[in-house]
Amino acid sequence: MTNAYVTLVTNADYAMGATALTRSIRRTGTTADIVVLYTNVVPETDLAPLAALGCRVVEVEHLPLSDAFNERHARKTLHGAAPFTKGRKPDFHTPLDNFCKLRLWQLTQYERCVFIDADAIVLKNIDKLFVYPEFSAAPNVYESLADFHRLNSGVFVARPSVATYEAMLTALEEPERFWRRTDQSFLESFFPDWHGLPVFMNMLQYVWFNLPDLWDWNSIAVLHYQYEKPWEKDHPKAERLKPLIDLWQDIYEEREVDLDALPSPPGKS
Ligand code: UDP
Ligand code: MN
Repeated sequence: MTNAYVTLVTNADYAMGATALTRSIRRTGTTADIVVLYTNVVPETDLAPLAALGCRVVEVEHLPLSDAFNERHARKTLHGAAPFTKGRKPDFHTPLDNFCKLRLWQLTQYERCVFIDADAIVLKNIDKLFVYPEFSAAPNVYESLADFHRLNSGVFVARPSVATYEAMLTALEEPERFWRRTDQSFLESFFPDWHGLPVFMNMLQYVWFNLPDLWDWNSIAVLHYQYEKPWEKDHPKAERLKPLIDLWQDIYEEREVDLDALPSPPGKS
């Protein structure tokens, strides 16, 4: 049995993100497969770079969920019922697409998978995660140290299984359930005893300006650009996050990066 890193892309923007992610994973020297789940609307030309990097590109459909479920989680309804107050999501982000992550449980040719959002980059080899239990994820910390109990679904360790996949479909559709933060709320509820990974396994970009003392380049294994994306032109936080955006661009463009020469966040003591 083998292991795989898995990501998801449902449009050209996230395909670009996945290209940087794949390049970053390759830099760590792993021999695990890299699987890109994609929906059939992603243009062939945007998938080509991923195939060229040796990724297994696997087409997936949206989950077979009811119309009522899909309406409750449509972008407009969801943003109305559960607005984002801490940051801004790009227009190319469709909340319902997030649920396609759960297709990972159908990849039963793999013993364990490490899922990573397409808006993240890996800075250190993290193959050790393949022996972590299902379900392991890092905390959703980017505002306050009081948030360590919350889960972020941008990086997680899972064990593909058809039985689990089917149990998830049933649990998703519990009457009138509204998953406020889509797959993230769902996974937290489905795996109440989730195993906590170190925060450095999924360091969220807002930590850079909200919790600078938590920032430690030597420890960060995965850097995750939640909310605004590093390839968006001049987004509202681009100036404050410039060193992180420059790092993403260097990896995307395959330039040399010296991880030891990165600056500390302003305000770090
Ligand atoms: N995703 C996607 N298309 C979408 C929304 C999400 O492909 O329209 C995938 C992609 O891998 C992305 C992940 O699901 O990284 C989660 O969304 P995002 O990273 O934008 O959420 P955030 O980390 O900002 O909460
Ligand atoms: Mn993300």
